[in-house]
Amino acid sequence: MATIAWIGLGHMGNPMTANLIGGGHTVHGFDLDRTALDAAAAKGVKPFGSIADAVRGVDAVFTMLPKGDHARAVYEGDDGVFAHADPSTLLVDSSTIDIDSAKLLHDTARARGFRFVDAPVSGGISGAAAGTLTFMLGGEPDAVEAAAVFIDPMSGNIIRTGAATSGQAAKICNNMMLLINLAACAEGAVLAERLGLDPTVFWNVASVSSADSWALRTWYPVPGIVETSAANHDFAPTFTADLANKDIGLALRAGESTDTPLPTAAIVAAQLQELVDSGLGGRDCSLIIKHIDPAVG
Ligand code: NAD
Repeated sequence: MATIAWIGLGHMGNPMTANLIGGGHTVHGFDLDRTALDAAAAKGVKPFGSIADAVRGVDAVFTMLPKGDHARAVYEGDDGVFAHADPSTLLVDSSTIDIDSAKLLHDTARARGFRFVDAPVSGGISGAAAGTLTFMLGGEPDAVEAAAVFIDPMSGNIIRTGAATSGQAAKICNNMMLLINLAACAEGAVLAERLGLDPTVFWNVASVSSADSWALRTWYPVPGIVETSAANHDFAPTFTADLANKDIGLALRAGESTDTPLPTAAIVAAQLQELVDSGLGGRDCSLIIKHIDPAVG
């Protein structure tokens, strides 16, 4: 079994590392947030005080960080992965980041003799806990195959998307569709209630009808219906509005750079931006329902 360094032990990194440990691997962890590091240590991650110490002598480094800026700092910083890992170490970034940052990391890794894979994931914290995430792997075929071996205990699906940055491209399109679906769930839920339907009865209809979606079955923004919904816990975050806003922003930027009109995504992006601007960026993104029913949350 392998030794893996994991940088970024938040909502996703915590359960993902638990599954790596369950798969028999040793995991070295580092996070700037002491609480996140302690929570991972309680599940068997060996805590380290710096990236330099965490990556020393490991077989692979995984990163699970909020945005492109964080990923670049973790790889490129003086205390970072490129400076302190041995070039034989496989590097895998599972964060969702912009394509330009991902390309830069691929290019720098290659120039310094590392194998690097962009490997964003889908499935939320419930999929992370269950070890059923979908991974989208972009990079050189030998690096992708090496990464797939480590990813196995965390995943339900491993999809080779193609060349460097193609994993991020797939993830950006996927999350744009997810967030549009979530906004649709919010509108449908409030309208159904105001038409006098029992919320559970309406959900029972939609979930076996043509309105079914992952957002409906996992994040339905009404309390007491879907076990994994943040609405059951006053919208404490599973996926923050900040990160959702980042992701739909990545889609809009990709739309601009490819001359692709994304009118529906633009509406959802404006709603998420408003949540962030009103100080709700740290709450769950399913609080987008507040746009339809301001009394919620
Ligand atoms: P999170 O904010 O809960 O966790 C990120 C962690 O990274 C935090 O603990 C933070 O302290 C740490 N961090 C930031 N900068 C660091 C640095 N320089 N060095 C060390 N640690 C650092 O975010 P999350 O929800 O776990 O999401 C992580 C990534 O996965 C994001 O890109 C997100 O878009 C993506 N993602 C999230 C979900 C979800 O449902 N939460 C699902 C799929 C993908």
